[in-house]
Amino acid sequence: MRISKKNKRYSILILLIILVVIAFPIIHLLKTKWGEIDRHSVLPARHVDDASMLNLTKVDSIIAIPADRQAIENQLTQILRYADAKGLKVALAGARHSMGGHTMYPGGIVLNMLPYNHMQLDTIDNILSIGSGALWTDAIQYLDRFDRSIAVMQAFSSFSIGGSLSVNGHGWQKNSPPLVSSVVSFTLMNAQGRVLHCSREKNTELFHHVLGGYGLFGIILDVKLNVVDNRALKYHYINLAPEHYTAYYKKYILDNPKVDLVFGRLRVSNKNFMEEATLNYFEQVSEPPVQLSLQKKNIEETKRLIFRGSVNSEYGKRLRWDLETSSAIPARLLTFTRNEIMDSQVSLIENKDTTSTDLLHEYFIPERNFMNFIQDIKPLLIKSKLDLLNITIRAVNRDHDAYLNYAREDVFGFVLLFNQKKTAQQETDMQNLTNLLVDAALKNEGTYYLPYRLHIAKEKMRKVYPQADSFFRTKLKYDPSELFNNKFYMHYK
Ligand SMILES: Cc1cc2nc3c(=O)[nH]c(=O)nc-3n(C[C@H](O)[C@H](O)[C@H](O)COP(=O)(O)OP(=O)(O)OC[C@H]3O[C@@H](n4cnc5c(N)ncnc54)[C@H](O)[C@@H]3O)c2cc1C
Repeated sequence: MRISKKNKRYSILILLIILVVIAFPIIHLLKTKWGEIDRHSVLPARHVDDASMLNLTKVDSIIAIPADRQAIENQLTQILRYADAKGLKVALAGARHSMGGHTMYPGGIVLNMLPYNHMQLDTIDNILSIGSGALWTDAIQYLDRFDRSIAVMQAFSSFSIGGSLSVNGHGWQKNSPPLVSSVVSFTLMNAQGRVLHCSREKNTELFHHVLGGYGLFGIILDVKLNVVDNRALKYHYINLAPEHYTAYYKKYILDNPKVDLVFGRLRVSNKNFMEEATLNYFEQVSEPPVQLSLQKKNIEETKRLIFRGSVNSEYGKRLRWDLETSSAIPARLLTFTRNEIMDSQVSLIENKDTTSTDLLHEYFIPERNFMNFIQDIKPLLIKSKLDLLNITIRAVNRDHDAYLNYAREDVFGFVLLFNQKKTAQQETDMQNLTNLLVDAALKNEGTYYLPYRLHIAKEKMRKVYPQADSFFRTKLKYDPSELFNNKFYMHYK
């Protein structure tokens, strides 16, 4: 068959168009990659920082605690005695992903809890005993061998158990309160060096204050957590207008017993800013889950570059949204496991640029004010000079356990991720914006999350957390010399 000249020209034109369409995103991602200067900064001796990279602080010493159960109690008792005698404060650090100096006190001792990471599963009662320094990723890898999975945890698995319990994190597990709900009991070394068992039946006041207690009541040592079955899951996704979000949530998620994990996203490109949403969920299917060790690792660096390519780039933001929404179609054909999805590392969004940092905010809003909150924050975000990279939405059920609770009824958590330049101007801009966003949360009967930057004055914090004064009084009851201390306590007490 002969191809006419006209058809040939037409085919070449189409080929060129396809090449240009593919070339633009590829060039954008390559530019993102080549523009990254990976200058991993080494901290000066006896200095610590946290995930914000804005909290460089000189401390007396950083002590990695032993992994051994017997040794840890002996060593910690000695450290606490020494600190008390020398008038030094003690701050506790897990994976240091909090962002306001919650893991440090200037001139104090920092206890690095990460080495304490033992774990053992009781397969009859489905209870995991775990050292507070273990990371969720370790726990998931361990549980996977027994076809079990963590009941409630954050969206990434890079955090420690002790740090997660102390902020009382939440995740995207359907119908779940924050992760305190999955805690059976824990042991705590108090300021006097005694190890106490805490549960809903024993040392109850401590139980309710330590969970979400920001390391102020003692050192969490051994934790018992309820676990659930690992499951095979299929991905589903709906593109919708934000005003339909809560109705669709009820229709497709709440009334569907097969849904296990669920999150939403709002569009953040200037084009259609906060006018489009996605509802993403994973439904249980009957096939058995494939073990993690048998699964292939996928294209994590490409995903990271797609995310990083959205920093300061309208094109990158549109590209990310388009790729994520279009890749949702083939993703529907695949089967995932609960453990595979939950074992996701923060390295997926890692910022390698040392002149800027990525900062999180989170606001918890009751369903009745869902749209009002979106409408209130939209003009603030449009006006702000800070680069908004992401908004995800997660439902969090009412928390009946933590004293300093943020989910006092069923709420939707709006998680906002910004890129901030490390300049005084952007720091001031961020402080101003955070205050406006907290005002919007207050107006809509919501709360804000405490592990992030300390940009809210203690008086305003009490409008959101009216229980704060009594929380800090209870801290003094258990720790009158304020031995356990950190910048969070210094700021809000
Ligand atoms: C990229 C990113 C994504 C996030 N996503 C989520 C999310 O989906 N959901 C959510 O709820 N949160 C989320 N967070 C917040 C995160 O849950 C908290 O920062 C959490 O504290 C991280 O755990 P960590 O081990 O890093 O804690 P750290 O920052 O090390 O410590 C947090 C607090 O716990 C105390 N602490 C640590 N270990 C102990 C111990 N053994 N005993 C007593 N106190 C202790 C510390 O003193 C400190 O006050 C996210 C944070 C980042 C940076």
